Amino acid sequence: MPAVTAAAPPMTCRPFGPGPKVSVFTLGLMRALASPLQLQQVVAKALAIGINHFETAPSYGPSRIYLGQALAALAVPRHRYVITSKLLPGMDVASGLAVVRATLRHLRLDRLDRLAVHGINRPEHLHWALDGPGAEILAGCQAEGLVRQVGFSSHGSPEIVEQAMVSGRFGFCSLHLHLLNPAMMPLARQAMAAGMGVMAISPADKGGRLFDPPDLLRRQCVPFDPLELAYRWLLGHGISTVTVGAAHPSDLVWAQRLAQVGDGMPSSVAAVAERLDQARQQRLQDTFCGQCRRCLPCPEGIDIPALLRLRNLRLGHGMVAFCEERYGLVGQAGHWLPTVRGDACTRCGDCLPRCPRNLDIPRLLQHTHGLLQGPPRRRLWG
Ligand code: SF4
Ligand code: SF4
Repeated sequence: MPAVTAAAPPMTCRPFGPGPKVSVFTLGLMRALASPLQLQQVVAKALAIGINHFETAPSYGPSRIYLGQALAALAVPRHRYVITSKLLPGMDVASGLAVVRATLRHLRLDRLDRLAVHGINRPEHLHWALDGPGAEILAGCQAEGLVRQVGFSSHGSPEIVEQAMVSGRFGFCSLHLHLLNPAMMPLARQAMAAGMGVMAISPADKGGRLFDPPDLLRRQCVPFDPLELAYRWLLGHGISTVTVGAAHPSDLVWAQRLAQVGDGMPSSVAAVAERLDQARQQRLQDTFCGQCRRCLPCPEGIDIPALLRLRNLRLGHGMVAFCEERYGLVGQAGHWLPTVRGDACTRCGDCLPRCPRNLDIPRLLQHTHGLLQGPPRRRLWG
C-alpha cells in the first residue's frame, strides 16, 4: 500500500474543544480488527477522503496496535491525524498511567491528542474522574505531557452527562446523539456553547442500524437515505464530529459523499426530520412516549423512557431488528445499557401520575416486552 504523503482532499473540519480541529467524520476503530491489513485498508481509505480523526480504546481488542502499525506502514505525517483513545474508569493510579503509557507505545507516539474517560455512566464513574484516582491519572498525564486534552464519553442519563459537563474538567464529550434519539441535543448545544467539542457516537449503528434500514423508514426519509439524513441532521446542528465504526473501506461511502458539508441546518433536512417525527407520533397515536423522563424514578429500576423509545421506533418506523437487538441487550451489558426489562414492572403505579401524557405505562411496558423479547445478546466489546 502506498505511503500517504500527498495532501488529503478537503473534508470539513470543526473545533473539538481546545486543540486541533477534527474532520466532521471520525473513524472509530472497534470493528476493522480481523487483521492488521483490514484496519490498514480502512485507515488508508479514511485518510484518502480527508478524515483526520481516529478513535481507539484499550477495550477495542488489538485496535491500538493495528492503528500504530497502519500509520507507520502508510508513513502518515504526524500533522495529518489526531488520535483519541480512552480509559475505563475504576483503575488505581498506577494501573491507569500504565494503560496510557501502553497506549502511546502501541500507537508509537510521544503524546496522545485526546484521552477520554470511557463511559461516565454512573455517579461513581464521575467521582472517580473528578475526585478519585482518575483525577490524579488525568492530571498526571497532562503534567507529564502524555496527553494534550481530556474528555469523556457517556452512555448515562442526561443528569450525569450534565454534571460531567459543568465540572469544567473536560474539553470534549462523546454522546449518544441521534436523529431518532435527540434527548441529549440540548446538552450537546450547552457543551458546544461552553467551548467543548461534541462527538456523536455511531449514528450508523447505535443510531438505529441505519446501515440496513427497514423499508418503512426508507420511505419516511425520502428523498434522503436514512443514514444520510441522520448524518446531515447531526452536522446541521453543529455537532463537531460523528463516528463511523467502519469494518471495510466501503463503510465510509457516506463520509466521502458528505465530506464538504457546510454549517447550518438545510431546510430540506429539517423538513424531513420534522415529517419523520410526525409520522412516528401518528403511528403511535395516544401510546406515543414523549421521552420527557418525568415518570422516573421507578422503584424497580426500569428505565421507562429508554424501553418505550424502542417501542416508539418499532411501531413508528418498523425498526424490528434494531429494537429487538437493543432490547435483547437490556440487563446484559452492565452500566452501559438499561439493566431491567419491562416484565419487571410490578404495576405499583408510582410512575402514573407523573406522566403528562397519561400513558398506561405498565401496560405499555408489557407490550414492549412481548413485542421485543428474544434471546439475550452481547455487546460488541466488554
Ligand atoms: S408501575 Fe411499573 S414502571 Fe411504573 S413505577 Fe411501578 S414498577 Fe415502575
Ligand atoms: S413521563 Fe410518560 S411521556 Fe414522559 S418519558 Fe415517561 S412514559 Fe414517556
